[in-house]
Amino acid sequence: MSMTITGKVYLVGAGPGDPELLTVRAHNLLRRADLVLHDDLNPPAILALAGPQAAVENVGKRCGKKGVAQEQINARMIEAARRGQEVVRLKSGDPGIFGRLAEEIDALEAAAIPYEVVPGITAGIAAAAAMSASLTDRRKTSRVILVSGHRATKGEPHEKTNWKALAAEDATLVIYMPGNNFAGLRDELLAAGLDTGTPAVLVSRAATPQQQHGSTTLGALDQLPTLESPAILLIGRSLAGVHQRLSAEILALALDETGARVSPL
Ligand code: SAH
Repeated sequence: MSMTITGKVYLVGAGPGDPELLTVRAHNLLRRADLVLHDDLNPPAILALAGPQAAVENVGKRCGKKGVAQEQINARMIEAARRGQEVVRLKSGDPGIFGRLAEEIDALEAAAIPYEVVPGITAGIAAAAAMSASLTDRRKTSRVILVSGHRATKGEPHEKTNWKALAAEDATLVIYMPGNNFAGLRDELLAAGLDTGTPAVLVSRAATPQQQHGSTTLGALDQLPTLESPAILLIGRSLAGVHQRLSAEILALALDETGARVSPL
């Protein structure tokens, strides 16, 4: 009688980049994994937590080159699990937020591979914390909308983000992959009915030593500096206090401490 030993795939969120913002579960799984398949956004300090037995492979896209195709990543996970390995599929932030988790789950289900999803701190939550911002404020905002600034499928007009359906006075928009066409985004959000004075805060490389930020209001969104990728844009009235604080700092310093020049308003 032959026995099939099946391993397991852990779809793990690594948080925004600071190893201290990993969950204990993510840390434990990294320590004992046989294989770690990670994206580009996972920094060396986190990958270094993998045990000495682990093979660590980057399956993200490097230097703008075409990345490893999703099908190849799926095939690699499945093949390793079938050999009995414990696989950590490490994703930045939370695996279920713009992390292609659904596609990987579908592939694992189809192959009947056991798996588990381990949540992580998503970039938007980390960025808000880094700015000492609350994404909700019972006096102003009662909704948080996590949205991608990019179309899911290029060239499909119906895939364009429907800002009209999202923009509201009582919502905080957390915009992943905000791109760099801030003038276009400003026009869309103003057309959707948001006020020109709505605060906007851009946070680059949140929770890493390279963190930078810029702050402005929606009317002047095009004047935000384009900061290093990855960056995330927070827009909404609950950012008013942060914007005021940052503007005051900038007026005092002309340059903020990270060197990002932001026009005082
Ligand atoms: N699953 C991830 C998101 C992946 S999509 C999460 O939950 O955070 C990649 C986008 O996430 C980037 O374009 C950027 O908008 C955002 N992002 C990821 N890490 C970030 C960081 N440390 N600082 C700011 N934005 C980040």
